[in-house]
Amino acid sequence: MQLTDIGINLTHRSFEADLEQVLQDAFAAGVTRLILTGTSLRGSQEAHRLALRYPQHLFSTAGVHPHDAKSCGPQTIPALKKLLQHPSVCAVGECGLDFNRNFSPPDTQEEWFQAQIELAIEIQKPLFLHERDAHPRFLDILKSYSALPPAVVHCFTGEANALKDYLDLGLWIGITGWICDERRGRHLRQLAKRIPADRLMLETDAPFLLPRDLPQPPKDPRRNEPAYLPHILRTVAACRNETPDTTAQITTQNAQQFFRLP
Ligand SMILES: [Zn+2]
Repeated sequence: MQLTDIGINLTHRSFEADLEQVLQDAFAAGVTRLILTGTSLRGSQEAHRLALRYPQHLFSTAGVHPHDAKSCGPQTIPALKKLLQHPSVCAVGECGLDFNRNFSPPDTQEEWFQAQIELAIEIQKPLFLHERDAHPRFLDILKSYSALPPAVVHCFTGEANALKDYLDLGLWIGITGWICDERRGRHLRQLAKRIPADRLMLETDAPFLLPRDLPQPPKDPRRNEPAYLPHILRTVAACRNETPDTTAQITTQNAQQFFRLP
């Protein structure tokens, strides 16, 4: 079994001390490819540098998270564009809207979300999208473009209507260990089977979103790791009435095609 973790914040300081071990554990668990999420210009540059150290296994995205939209300026898009010329930088993002805490003002978030969509259209690379508490506006903005590149809503945690809207728009869906949460993730267990086989991908969003129901206690009680992706896979497979092998096969193939991995 070979899995791809399409969303992992591997440059997070919590991985600094034992990065090599974290990667070896992931590879040993069958998680052979990881897409490092870029959430700011600097973070995207760091993710790219780290990915270059493991060219068979690590890839990265380049973008600015809506929380960081207020840090964007005239140099942001040209710098992201330069980074995205490298083949291992495989998607624009994460970008989108997050009206949950509004760390950046909503209009600033919208401005830089649109700028990153336009960048993805220009360079024809896929989009790695983030949406929280912003579904109507997020959908309106995406719909205003007639020819979007392939786009994935990462860490989907929304309700049935949002899922339907995203699927109707032709988007891919990223599922995290949120689905393993018996309280907050309950609705996702029903929704998982409504995602067509060719639109589903898996991610840990580590070090965040540690699955709450791991069979063994995690090495670090607060840190999620890419090695736990098979646990998420088994939960998703059970919700879809599929064997884990089937879910592994389709999600790995989807990731390979979507991010155009070698
Ligand atoms: Zn996100």
